[in-house]
Amino acid sequence: GMPTPPAPTLAPRRKSRKIQVGKVAVGGDAPISIQSMTTTPTTDINATLQQIAELTAAGCDIVRVAVPTIDDADALPAIAKKSQIPVIADIHFQPKYVFAAIDAGCAAVRVNPGNIRKFDDQVKEIARAASDAGVSLRIGVNAGSLDKRLLEKYGKPTAEALVESAVWEASLFEEHGFHDFKISVKHNDPVVMVRAYELLAQRGDWPLHLGVTEAGPAFQGTIKSATAFGALLSQGIGDTIRVSLSAPPVEEVKVGTQILQALNLRPRKLEIVSCPSCGRAQVDVYTLAEKVTAGLEGMTVPLRVAVMGCVVNGPGEAREADLGVASGNGKGQIFVKGEVVKTVPEAMIVETLIEEAMRIAETMPAP
Ligand code: SF4
Repeated sequence: GMPTPPAPTLAPRRKSRKIQVGKVAVGGDAPISIQSMTTTPTTDINATLQQIAELTAAGCDIVRVAVPTIDDADALPAIAKKSQIPVIADIHFQPKYVFAAIDAGCAAVRVNPGNIRKFDDQVKEIARAASDAGVSLRIGVNAGSLDKRLLEKYGKPTAEALVESAVWEASLFEEHGFHDFKISVKHNDPVVMVRAYELLAQRGDWPLHLGVTEAGPAFQGTIKSATAFGALLSQGIGDTIRVSLSAPPVEEVKVGTQILQALNLRPRKLEIVSCPSCGRAQVDVYTLAEKVTAGLEGMTVPLRVAVMGCVVNGPGEAREADLGVASGNGKGQIFVKGEVVKTVPEAMIVETLIEEAMRIAETMPAP
């Protein structure tokens, strides 16, 4: 059949250079990738690989592991070898671990030059080792660990300070002909963060890794990340994203996936269009929507299911969806592709919707 036309997005993608993080391309026309970070001690190889497997199953494209000690560095070869997705070693203070991570077969290394003293001296060797091994880097500037000189100059980690730091650190690598890196300029304030990435995007064609650092517990962190990423991605800025939550990393991947899907930067899968309910509702919409969502969890086809509380907007939305219900008078009208296929008693709505969804899903091409 005819290929499905791509869904419209809010802006064309900013033109960035493409780099490789192992098998995953970042930047250029590569799909925007989702990253997360393990929370297990990296020295616990089995637990870390188990968590990476869970992240992979949740749709994570690239995973980062912390390397604070030599024992963590020693665990990297086994983790890099067995992980299903590219592994990035996260290194803050010890340049020698950068070399260990490269030797270990990590796909990339995150360096934070603000935390590496005498960083300038090490750049040439790091660039050469990374280049020889085909390993890319991320220059990860962070408000909490900004270069002292810039902190003095600007008084606090402003957007301008973060960008000046990033551009300076990038130039150190570029002087040695090394270009295989992406940049992040993270701040915990979405307003400062958005401004920093906007400024950085104008200064060069580096692929950009988006993140609001220390975004907070799940609810607040989700809102902060969605707001900040939305502001940037809707301008075409951003090539890979990491949602930081004080919550299990699988949650970060779910939130990242929903952000990209909401902006049509990733194909939508199951989508529940449910009304907030109001004084007109003739069924318990919350419970209905929750039960349908739970019953259809894991569905991988782009099915749109409308769950509507009454007949005001109900039939209209239910008709626009692949499948839907509009409730009233203790009954549910079940719509499939705009046609009422049956009317069932309220108690049968959930199971009828799930049955119909499974039936329709079977007729849809797998993504
Ligand atoms: Fe209220 Fe009906 Fe709209 Fe739901 S569909 S919010 S119940 S008017």
